[in-house]
Amino acid sequence: MRLNVLLLSTLCLFAFSSLEAQKKKKKKGEEEKPKTEEKTTIASKVKGHDKLEGLFTFYRDTTSGSIMMEVSKEQLDKEYIYFSQIADGVLEAYSFRGAYRGSDIFKIRKFYNELEFVKVNTSFYYDPENPLSRSQEANMSNSLLASEKIEVEENGKYLIKADNLFLKETWSQIKPPSFPGQSPTAFKLGSLSSEKTKVRAIRNYPQNIDFKVEYVYSTSSVLNGGSNAIADARNVSISVFHSLVAMPENDYKPRFDDPRVGYFTTQVDDQTSKEAVAYRDMINRWHLVKKDPEAAVSEPIEPITWWIENTTPLEWRESIKQGVLEWNKAFEKAGFKNAMVVKVQPDTAEWDAGDIRYNVLRWTSSPNPPFGGYGPSFKNPRTGQIIGADIMLEFVHHTNRVRYSKLYSLSANSDEELPAWNPGDEANYCMYSGLMLENNLFGQMAVAAETDELDVLQNEAMLELIMHEVGHTLGLNHNMKSSQLYSPEQLYNKEFIQGKALTGSVMDYATINLTKDRSKQSHYYSTVVGPYDVWAIQFGYTPDISDVDMDKLLARSTEPELMFGNDADDMRSSSRGIDPRINTGDLSNDQITYSIDRIELVDNLMKDLREKYNDPGESYQELRQAYYILSRQRAQAGEVMSRFIGGIYVDRAMQGQPGATKPYTPVSESEQKRAMNGISKYMFAPNAFNTSNDIYNYLALQRRGYNFYRGPEDPKIHESVLSAQKDVLSHLLHENTLQRLVDSELYGNSYQLGEFMTDLNSAIFDADISGNVNTFRQNLQIEYTKMLTEILLKDKSSSYSNHAKSMVLYNLNAIDRKATNSSGNTLSRAHKSHLRALIKNALDEYKG
Ligand SMILES: [Zn+2]
Repeated sequence: MRLNVLLLSTLCLFAFSSLEAQKKKKKKGEEEKPKTEEKTTIASKVKGHDKLEGLFTFYRDTTSGSIMMEVSKEQLDKEYIYFSQIADGVLEAYSFRGAYRGSDIFKIRKFYNELEFVKVNTSFYYDPENPLSRSQEANMSNSLLASEKIEVEENGKYLIKADNLFLKETWSQIKPPSFPGQSPTAFKLGSLSSEKTKVRAIRNYPQNIDFKVEYVYSTSSVLNGGSNAIADARNVSISVFHSLVAMPENDYKPRFDDPRVGYFTTQVDDQTSKEAVAYRDMINRWHLVKKDPEAAVSEPIEPITWWIENTTPLEWRESIKQGVLEWNKAFEKAGFKNAMVVKVQPDTAEWDAGDIRYNVLRWTSSPNPPFGGYGPSFKNPRTGQIIGADIMLEFVHHTNRVRYSKLYSLSANSDEELPAWNPGDEANYCMYSGLMLENNLFGQMAVAAETDELDVLQNEAMLELIMHEVGHTLGLNHNMKSSQLYSPEQLYNKEFIQGKALTGSVMDYATINLTKDRSKQSHYYSTVVGPYDVWAIQFGYTPDISDVDMDKLLARSTEPELMFGNDADDMRSSSRGIDPRINTGDLSNDQITYSIDRIELVDNLMKDLREKYNDPGESYQELRQAYYILSRQRAQAGEVMSRFIGGIYVDRAMQGQPGATKPYTPVSESEQKRAMNGISKYMFAPNAFNTSNDIYNYLALQRRGYNFYRGPEDPKIHESVLSAQKDVLSHLLHENTLQRLVDSELYGNSYQLGEFMTDLNSAIFDADISGNVNTFRQNLQIEYTKMLTEILLKDKSSSYSNHAKSMVLYNLNAIDRKATNSSGNTLSRAHKSHLRALIKNALDEYKG
C-alpha cells in the first residue's frame, strides 16, 4: 500500500513536471510567432482538398489523399443503407470479384463532440400501437461501428476525419476469422497494413456513394503461399466497394413471404404478436410500378434494366439477351409489359460494373472460379426492396476445361468448393453452372457425331443458365422439385416437348435431357421460363393484389407444375431433405427410370470411348476427362435412386387447400423396392461396372512440369468405383434414413427396416459370396461391413437408433455366416477371412 502511494506520487510528479516543460516550450513558441486568433471553419480545414458532393459531402486532400466527411444536422438519426461487395479478392480469403456481402441499416448519431456510426438491428418488429413496443431495445444489440471527433461544427454542419471509417474494417469484417480446428498449415492473411491500405476511388452521387478500398494484409513470412492467383502471400490485397445509400423514398409496400413459393426473404420476427407463427418475413423484390395503373398490362415506370458488360464474349451476347428478356413472359402475367430491358455496355463507357446504379451481367475468367454463375442482389433491409443486382459468369464453365484438380476427385459429392465464410447473411451462391459444365461435357460426348447439335446444346445451356441467374436477381431462390414436371416418355418425345420448358422452373439444378435413342432428341435444357416461374412472378410482382386474389393464387400451389422445394429441403445431403423429388442432378417425375436410362446411356458411351477420343497427335487427357465425366454421371444417377429409400413426400399446402395431400406421405413400398433393385443392379452387382478393360491403359493425364505431386498419376479405378458406391451407402446407412424407415412405419411406410436391411445385405453379398468375389465387390463388401461396424463402435454410434443397431448386429452375424466358406480363389478366400475378422473384432468390442 505504502509503495503504491509512493509510486503514484512519483508518477504525478513526473506528469506535472512534463506538463510544466510543455507550457514553457509553448510560451517560448508564442514569443517567436504571435498567435492570430483565427476561428477554425470547414473552409479552412478543407483547404487543399477536392470537394466531392453527393449523398454526403466528402473532401479529399490533394496531397495525402486523406478524407474528411461532412454531415449535416438533417442527416443525423436518419436511416441509411450500407452495402458492400468485393471488387477483387482471392478465393483463399473467401472473397472474390462481385461477391455481395449483404446490406445493413445504419444511422449517424451525435454524442457531445462526436459523431457515432451505428448499425441498426432490423430483425424484429414491434407493433407501434402495442405498449410493448416501448421495450423494443431490450436484449438486442445495435452496433456502434465508429465514433469520430467533430473537427468543426458550423451552421448545422459537422466535419469529421473519415479515413478510419474506410481504411479499417469498420463497416464489415473482411479478413476471415481463424476457425477452430483449422489446420496450422492453412492459408492465412497477415495483419491489416495501415500504411498500404488505400481508398482507391470515391464515386459520389445524390443517392449513393461508393468507396473502393484496397485492403492490404501483410506479414513478414508465410507457410502457405496459397494458389497461383496470389503473387506473393506476404502482401495480399482485397478490394472492397463500400456503398452508403439513401433510403429509397417511395410508396413501396413489402410483400410477405409464403412457404409455398420460393423467394429470398428478409426475415423479421414480430415481437408483439401472439400467433404461433409470428413471422413478418418480407420477400425480396424490385419496386415495379405501372405507368398506367388502370391497364391490365402496362409498362413499368422504371423497368429492371440489365447491362451486358463489355467484357462479354461476342458470340454469347444474343443468347444472354434472350435469356433476360424471356422473363418478360412471366411479368406479363403479373401485369407488366417490358419489365426487363437489356442494353450493352459501350466499350467507351465511363462507368464500371462495380457501380451499384447499374445491374450488370459480368464475365470473369478466374484462376479458381468459385462458381460459374452467381446472381446476387442487394436490398433495403427495412422492406425487402431490391435496389441493385449483378450476375457474374465464369468463362471456364463454357469451355471444355475441367479443372486439373477435379480430375482427381471422382465422387459425385465432390461439388465445387463453396466459399464457406461470408459476413453477409445472404450469400446465395449458385453452383448451377458447375453442374451445367459437367452436363454440357457429358452432352457433348453423346452428340459428338452430330456437329450442328453441339451449337444447339451450348446455346440452350447458356439460355437456361442466364434465365436461372436472372431469376435469382428477381428474388427467386432455387426450386429443386420442379424437375418433376414431365414423365421420361414426354421428355423423350420430340413433338411433345418442343418449345416447352423441361422443368416447372428454370430455378432447378436439373440434369441435361438426353435420349438414349438419339433420333428422338429434343431440348437439352429449358429455353423458356417454366409454369412455376410465371406463377412465382405473379405472386411477387402483381401490384396491389387483394387478399382474396392472393389466396386464390397461392391455392394453386397443389397443381403439379407448380411444385416447389428449395435447397433447404433438397436431398443432396442425407442429413437435410426427406423428399426424394426435391433433388439436384435429376429429371422427370420418374427419377428411377430416368436414372437407369442415364446409367445405360453412360455404359453405352463408355464402350466407344477409346474410339471416340482417338485423336492422333493429341494426348490422352481428354479421354481421361471423358471417363471421369461419365463416372460422375453414373454416380449421380445412383445417388438420385438411393434417396427413395426411407423417403417421404412432403406437401406444404395449407389446411383445406383443394388438391392437398397430407403433409407427409411415405414413398410407397413398391417405389422403394424399385429403387433398391435399381441400386442393386446398377451400383452394387458384380458386373455393375463392367467397363471394357482396354480403356484403362489410356486414362493418362498430360504431364505438366511436376504437377503430379498430389500422388501417383495412375487412374485409380477401384477408388473411383468405390466412391460412387460409398455415396449411395452413406445415404442408405445414414442415421436419419434408418430412423425414418422405422418412424414412418407409424404413418404409412411398409418397407420395414428389417426388410430393407436384409435386401441390402443380399444385394451386397448373395451373388458371389459362396464363390469367387471380384475385386470391385471385395471393396464394396469390406467397405459396407466396416460402415456397419462403425454404427456400433465409432463416435457416430450414439446418433443411431436402437433399431438400427439391432439390425446392424443381425446383418453382421448374417455376413459372418455367408462368408463361412472356403471356396473361390486365394484372394476371394482371404477376403472372406478379412470380413469375418472385421465382424469378430467389432462384436468383441461392442458393449451395447
Ligand atoms: Zn442458382
